Amino acid sequence: MKDLSKNYINGQWVNWAGDTIDVHEAGTGEVIAKVPASGREEMEQAIAAADDAFATWSESTLEQRIKVLEQLHAGLKERAGEIAETVCREVGMPIKLATGIQAGLPATITKTYLNMLPDFPFSEQSGNSEVQYAPVGVVGCITPWNYPLHQVILKVVPAIAAGCTVVLKPSEIAPQSAYILAEILDGTDLPKGVFNLVCGEGQTVGDTLIKHPDVRMVSFTGSTRTGNLIAHAAADDFKRIALEMGGKSASVILPDADLAAAVKGTVNNCLLNSGQTCTALTRMLVPAEQHDEACELAAAAFAKMTPGNPLEETTRLGPLASAQQRDKVIDYIKLGIEEGHTLVAGGPEAPEGCDKGYFVKATVFGNVKPDSRLAQEEIFGPVLCVIPYNDEAEAIRIANGTQYGLSGAVWSADADKAKKVASKLRTGQVFVNGGAFNPMAPFGGFGHSGIGREFGKWGLEEFLEVRSLQL
Ligand code: NAD
Repeated sequence: MKDLSKNYINGQWVNWAGDTIDVHEAGTGEVIAKVPASGREEMEQAIAAADDAFATWSESTLEQRIKVLEQLHAGLKERAGEIAETVCREVGMPIKLATGIQAGLPATITKTYLNMLPDFPFSEQSGNSEVQYAPVGVVGCITPWNYPLHQVILKVVPAIAAGCTVVLKPSEIAPQSAYILAEILDGTDLPKGVFNLVCGEGQTVGDTLIKHPDVRMVSFTGSTRTGNLIAHAAADDFKRIALEMGGKSASVILPDADLAAAVKGTVNNCLLNSGQTCTALTRMLVPAEQHDEACELAAAAFAKMTPGNPLEETTRLGPLASAQQRDKVIDYIKLGIEEGHTLVAGGPEAPEGCDKGYFVKATVFGNVKPDSRLAQEEIFGPVLCVIPYNDEAEAIRIANGTQYGLSGAVWSADADKAKKVASKLRTGQVFVNGGAFNPMAPFGGFGHSGIGREFGKWGLEEFLEVRSLQL
């Protein structure tokens, strides 16, 4: 078991002697690490350090920032194997996928900012004014457990690149990769106090971070429920907020689409990270006359996804990240049966041979009513709702008919038609006929899915205030 009873404050590892939080291995349920359940005092010390460091880091040169990010990028590459295994054990994502995504994306994202920084316009001319883009101040970063390092990097890298200082409170369920990040940054030329890590519960250290007057921005990724608390707290002293929250994304399969390819693309997306992905395509909208065929195709694809040990190279579907998440997903599967939808594959029982760890059966419901709880609420597990529709207008209405608006997909043999329908979806991104993920494209949500955007120049702009000098 790894003892991580320490926080990283003002360039120092500060030992913690108080209560700790157990970190569990998703595939076995065993305790694999412990981290501090820090108190408000530790968080206040970290905020003070970030506040002190802001005066100098906000004035740092572009060369200094680039050098630190180059060092960080090299460190992320060097420790990629360790990051992949750590996240695989904590979250349950199969090792092959974790290597590409959980360890690969943080380095890729850091590289995109390295490429962008030399030419980023930190000032521009508008008539007789010089418009300057200034760092917003001390940023509180609060992150979830499903892509734990990726979500941290999407905040910490552009914040530091913008000249901000940071206090990070990672998820207490999957915190270990944040410690690896702190170790890497400790070995770079980043001045003390620019990056701080405090681990603990949301209700204590998270609460202190979102309410502290010296924190000028909170960048949050997590549930819509917590995002709502943060928006209220931030309003009290007009902190800036960037919120990346939940989703219930629709995959709209139009009548002329290649049904098999569209179902395959939807299923693969839905089951990525065992459905613990904010952008998961969890509602598959199909023409009513193709409903049964679509269900058969989905059921066959789900049947192939038998859950297994995430540390094995051949495993494609891992467990869920925690006992709480497993129980929540099983409750939703039972709800789906109670609500009267057609159970097409899977079910609430534990999968065979998986008596340890947090496994659930990949489950498909057919004939799902668009207004039911199953079709409206974020489940965050391997559960697909197949929803029949009668015409295109109804499909768009159903797709837009939740409180969320994070992602979506449209499939059609006619590329222009697919683009036209995609442009009617009230979501931050839409995948058209399986278009590839782009780390330079803006990412974020409409409605209850979010405020603000991450990735690319949009992600950097979040951390900048605008000042105009009239000359
Ligand atoms: P969560 O809201 O429970 O926790 C997220 C973070 O907030 C954790 O670090 C937690 O400790 C902290 N927190 C909890 N209560 C707090 C409080 N009162 N004050 C301050 N901080 C507090 O979310 P989760 O269960 O860790 O993550 C799953 C959710 O995240 C899902 O809803 C998912 O859709 C969402 N998510 C969104 C995106 C996106 O980019 N839109 C990406 C990944 C996950």
